[in-house]
Amino acid sequence: MKRLGALLASLLLAGSLTACGGTAAQEMQSIQVFAMDTVMGLRACGGETEAALAAAEDEIYRLDEALSRTREDSAVSRLNSAAGGTPVDVGEELRDLIARALDFSAATDGAFDITLAPVSSAWGFTEDTYRVPEDAELALLLPCVGAEHVHLEEGTAVSLDQGTRIDLGAIAKGYASDWMAAIYQEHGITHGIVDLGGNTWVCGGNLEGEPWQIGIQDPARSAGALAGILEASDAFAVTSGGYQRYYTAPDGTVYQHILDPKTGYPVESDLLSVSILCDNGTMADAYSTALYVMGSAGAQAFWRTHGGFEMILITTAGQVLYTPGLSEKITPTEGSGYEYASILP
Ligand code: ADP
Ligand code: MG
Repeated sequence: MKRLGALLASLLLAGSLTACGGTAAQEMQSIQVFAMDTVMGLRACGGETEAALAAAEDEIYRLDEALSRTREDSAVSRLNSAAGGTPVDVGEELRDLIARALDFSAATDGAFDITLAPVSSAWGFTEDTYRVPEDAELALLLPCVGAEHVHLEEGTAVSLDQGTRIDLGAIAKGYASDWMAAIYQEHGITHGIVDLGGNTWVCGGNLEGEPWQIGIQDPARSAGALAGILEASDAFAVTSGGYQRYYTAPDGTVYQHILDPKTGYPVESDLLSVSILCDNGTMADAYSTALYVMGSAGAQAFWRTHGGFEMILITTAGQVLYTPGLSEKITPTEGSGYEYASILP
C-alpha cells in the first residue's frame, strides 16, 4: 500500500499566509485531521475561525463513520450486510447520496460505480490484503456489479440485490468537502483551504486578494513534484490517479485501486491522473474517478457533451491537457518534460 497523501498539494506560496482582515489582523488558523484513511489539512481565516474549524473536524468524523463500509455499525455496513432485496432504512442523507451516486453512474455510462465493493475487496484494496484474484472469482462477482442492483425504496430505505455491496469511497471525500464549504460559509470564513487528500476546496482567495495557487502533483514523480500550478478561488479541485493507492505484485505488476466496472480489473488507461475543477465537491470527486476510467478520449468526449466543469488530464504520452477555461489559470512547471496543450472545444 502506498498512500501519497494530497495529490493537489495546497501550495501556500511564501509570505501569503501571515494575517487576514486588513487592520483587524487575524492569523490564519489550521488543523490537521486523520479520517477516511487520509491526512487532511484545514486552514481558515476571518469570521468565527475556531468555531468553524471545530465544527469542520466534528463533521469529518461524523461522515467518516456514516459513510464507511469497514465500520460494522455504519448505515452503509447495515445495508451491505442485509439479505438481498431487504429494504434498509439508511436515513435521508445516505439515501440522497446513494441516489446521486446512481445518477453519476447513469451520466458516466457506468464508469462510476459504487457497487464495485466486492471486487475491490477481492483485490484486497479495502482491507489492505492485496492479491490478484482468479478470473473465475471475478466472473462470479461481476454479475452483482452495476447500478441496476441498487434500489431506492420508499421513504429513506434502500435495498441491494443478493451479492451486491456498495462502497462510497470515490465520492465520500468530495461530499465531505461540500459540507466543509457550507460550514465555512456559515461561520463567515473569508479565506481558507480545505485539503481532504486529493479533494481540495479553496475558500475565497489568498490573503493578498489573489486566487489561491493549487499544486498539481506530477503523477510520474515523487510526492510534492508538480506538473503545474492552478489558480482558483471558491472552487473544488479533485484529482484521481492510479499512483495514489496501488499494489505491486511479486512479479512487479502494478495494480491500482480504481477499477474498470466492465472487467473488474484495475483501470489500464492512457491517463496518469484526472483533475476536475468545479463548484460542487461531490460531482468533482465522482467525475475525477469516472473520467480516469474512461481514458483521455472518453474524458474529453464526456466534457464536450456534459460541460459544467474544467479538467486537467495528464496522459501516459507525456501531455498535460486542460480545458480552455483553464488556459489563463494554469502555470506549467518548467523543465517537467510535459507537453502542455488546451483541449479543443
Ligand atoms: P481516492 O478515494 O483514493 O481519493 P477516488 O475518488 O478515485 O480516489 O476513489 C477510489 C475508490 O473508489 C477506490 O478505492 C474504490 O473504493 C472505489 N472505486 C474504485 N473504482 C471505482 C469506480 N470505477 N467507480 C466508483 N468507485 C470506485
Ligand atoms: Mg473520486
